[in-house]
Amino acid sequence: MVMADPEHMLMTDGLGRRISYLRISVTDRCDLRCRYCMAERMQFLPKNQVLTLEEIALLADLFIARGIDKIRLTGGEPLVRRDIGDLVHRIGRHLGNGLRELTLTTNGTRLTEHAEMLVDAGVRRINVSLDSRDADRFAHITRGGQIDQVLRGLDAAQKAGLAVKINMVALKGVNEDEIIPMLHWCNDQGFDLTLIETMPLGETGEDRTDHYLPLTDVAAQIGAHHALAPIDYRTGGPSRYFAVEGMAAKLGLITPLTRNFCADCNRIRMTCEGKIFMCLGHEDHVDFKEALRNGGLAAVQPLIDRALRLKPAAHDFRIGAGARAATHRHMSVTGG
Ligand code: SAM
Ligand code: SF4
Repeated sequence: MVMADPEHMLMTDGLGRRISYLRISVTDRCDLRCRYCMAERMQFLPKNQVLTLEEIALLADLFIARGIDKIRLTGGEPLVRRDIGDLVHRIGRHLGNGLRELTLTTNGTRLTEHAEMLVDAGVRRINVSLDSRDADRFAHITRGGQIDQVLRGLDAAQKAGLAVKINMVALKGVNEDEIIPMLHWCNDQGFDLTLIETMPLGETGEDRTDHYLPLTDVAAQIGAHHALAPIDYRTGGPSRYFAVEGMAAKLGLITPLTRNFCADCNRIRMTCEGKIFMCLGHEDHVDFKEALRNGGLAAVQPLIDRALRLKPAAHDFRIGAGARAATHRHMSVTGG
């Protein structure tokens, strides 16, 4: 195991932002094909290009030694990766010893099998993506997903004692009429809710502009029914949280388009191929896989500093007439 080092080993980028949060995409594969995320016929990476679980764990050790104190496992769908429990337990060993939080973003389809494993490994909170509670609409958005599977997964998560936050991508003409009902449902279930603006990442075969819904408008609509008050609650990510009058559920808003949050960005992302992206919206990256495979962890150390210098001031997402995807990469590759 890599030993934790003193202050000077902590990661700070060229603009003085302290980097403490790593998102790891453990696979680019998924059992769903959400329309805003993936193309219907996605080409996935050949297996030998993907880091082994051991390689991911070694890199996680290294990052924790450099001051990463929160790790989110994501994808693709992290729970479709074979033996994912081994990785979760392996990283979970750092909890309380460098790592403050290990968490996961999932589509929920495999939570019935994995909820207890997550708790055993030290995971306490998860994000579950759910864009509609209507079975047909859910099947449409995910191109074939079955909502019952996710609802059973949510049940299993609650029984296992996991705190759940629902992630809902707000889509004009698709699920905008479900946002307020979703907030009520989350409140009844004991979940928080985060709404997300659709981001222009990778081609999906559909025009995201058609469904882009600015959350400024949504917040105004919700506010007409329930007063929203900004609160200090933070989970280390880009969500801004609001207390909702008359509800215990907190409402989070992720607004990459209408309100840029890059000035406080504390995050970096590692793809399942071992590429470190310093920003979801830029192509600059540093490749750790070859260095690790040829020179071991000693060869990776200097690359972390190179990556830190690459972190841009801000993403440059644009949506609307003539705007292209900001990156060729889909969210499922970089890790949402
Ligand atoms: N498969 C898991 C899931 O769906 O939760 C984890 C990976 S998914 C890429 C992570 C999050 O990114 C999900 O909440 C998903 O809705 C969101 N997402 C994917 N593509 C997006 C896009 N283009 N814009 C905004 N959010 C997106
Ligand atoms: Fe899969 Fe998650 Fe992308 Fe949907 S959002 S296709 S569940 S990776």
